[in-house]
Amino acid sequence: MDQDFKILIIEDDKYILNFLSLSLKASGYHFETANTGLIGLSLFNLNPPNLIILDLGLPDIDGLEIIQAIRLSSEVPIIVVSARGQESEKITALDYGANDYVTKPFHMGELMARIRVAQRKTKKDSSSENTEIFTLDYLTINYEKRLVLIHDEEVHLTPIEYRLLLLLVENKGKVLTHNYILRKIWGYSETSDTTSIRVYMANLRRKIESDTSSPRFILTEIGIGYRFVEE
Ligand code: CA
Repeated sequence: MDQDFKILIIEDDKYILNFLSLSLKASGYHFETANTGLIGLSLFNLNPPNLIILDLGLPDIDGLEIIQAIRLSSEVPIIVVSARGQESEKITALDYGANDYVTKPFHMGELMARIRVAQRKTKKDSSSENTEIFTLDYLTINYEKRLVLIHDEEVHLTPIEYRLLLLLVENKGKVLTHNYILRKIWGYSETSDTTSIRVYMANLRRKIESDTSSPRFILTEIGIGYRFVEE
């Protein structure tokens, strides 16, 4: 286990906190816990963690405000824990820059998998990766030459398709909401019209996926947005 990897859990539900603590301890993780938003934020400032598990429904501060406060100074991965029926809060949390989510009641195995994804991402970000070329399976992106290869064959992407692909790849493993994508690619998000995204995404998939009915790279998060696979 990576000794330097620290998790901060911000959760007020004693039962869940207990259950999380036991499982994380059993897996050898280092972590701190906070049962209010204020304690969570002060622990975050005092001893910056490598990952935050954040309950959206806290007694003092709204979890969404906590995400905004953290994102002012840090890109630390945040996994949101939301209750059933908090669909819109969950989407807003992702809009504000949370990386991922689990919905209560969740299986510990599911959360552990998300933690490992965040952990791998932290490691990769801190290592000196080759930034000129991205390769995953049969997809290669040569940033310098602005070239996309599928099975070693060049495919032509329109400028928007290319920017969409880069946005997804830069955020691989992270759920990107429709609003987030609209804001990043088209510069606005004050619309609920996701038709254009769907059209561009369908075209992009047709060009880069071997089998669009079972995508290798771009996964759909139904009702939320898209996620580029971690590996
Ligand atoms: Ca709660």
